[in-house]
Amino acid sequence: MAEAMKLIPESLSMKRLIWEQLSKPSLGTFSRYFVLTWALAGSGIVLFTRAPSPITFVLGSIILGLAQHRMALLGHDAAHGNACRNRFLNDAIGIAGCIFPLGITLSSYRCLHFPHHRDPAGPGDPELPVRRAMGKNWAGDLSTTRGLQLWGRSLLGFSLAELSVFVAKLPPGSRKERIYLASYWLIAAASAVLLHQEALLALWFFALSTTYFSTLRIQTWHEHSLPESNEAATNRFSLPNGIYRILFPLNSWCHYEHHRFPKVPFYHLPKVRALCLEDRIVSFSEMLAKERERCSPLAAKNFFLVQEEVDSAPRKQNQSERSRSA
Ligand SMILES: [Zn+2]
Repeated sequence: MAEAMKLIPESLSMKRLIWEQLSKPSLGTFSRYFVLTWALAGSGIVLFTRAPSPITFVLGSIILGLAQHRMALLGHDAAHGNACRNRFLNDAIGIAGCIFPLGITLSSYRCLHFPHHRDPAGPGDPELPVRRAMGKNWAGDLSTTRGLQLWGRSLLGFSLAELSVFVAKLPPGSRKERIYLASYWLIAAASAVLLHQEALLALWFFALSTTYFSTLRIQTWHEHSLPESNEAATNRFSLPNGIYRILFPLNSWCHYEHHRFPKVPFYHLPKVRALCLEDRIVSFSEMLAKERERCSPLAAKNFFLVQEEVDSAPRKQNQSERSRSA
């Protein structure tokens, strides 16, 4: 991928413009999206607490899950240092307001995400073993009827096995931050019990395991193709208006531009797209067709065969070493 990027002719002035003008994080702009995200989460919570019932629980969890997905995207920007220029404040906002509420640490996310940037969808990408470990269903194409069924399963909470694998496969991160995370959730749980709002904890985790996880599934599906099409690993497509704007919020559809310029905050990515005229943008339907091809039974089989080879390589090495020493 990196080699492919180098081949694209780009004017130095355009790059300089992007680095100088668009790579400066604005705390005010980030805060606006942050407040809106938490207002969305609050509206889901209020909907349920005002009139507690199974229906408001489900509706509230859908709204809350969409907000949690936005928290993940804001946390991703904070992981890149794009919340604000002050590193301490950047990490504090990212940890307390975006990453900890999702039950993970910023350090473990960085351990997973930064190597991914160095080799997206390539052999050195740590996200690929995680996706493989989550099983064939997770890697399936979401643009077909079968894919929609899989997505529906996630939406209904039937992807708990994949979710537990995802959490288990995350790198451990720093010990200090893990202790902070445990304390954070201990305080949150104690507060809920003291205020007799235990149902809110149920609402939060139900939203995480249903709406949030299903939107995360869409995101991981559309961002990158698999290793066999590594020359175009990051999808670059135009997004239609309408419901798609809900499923691809905070310019997450500009993932290609994000990989080109990771230090550009998400709110400037459409401007980067407008400047990078040399690169081809495919329509949404073309992207779907490409994804259908990459998720064909043959491609999926190759995807898992690669993993089997990786898994069996250390075993084969040990066997040959044993036979040599014997
Ligand atoms: Zn990134």
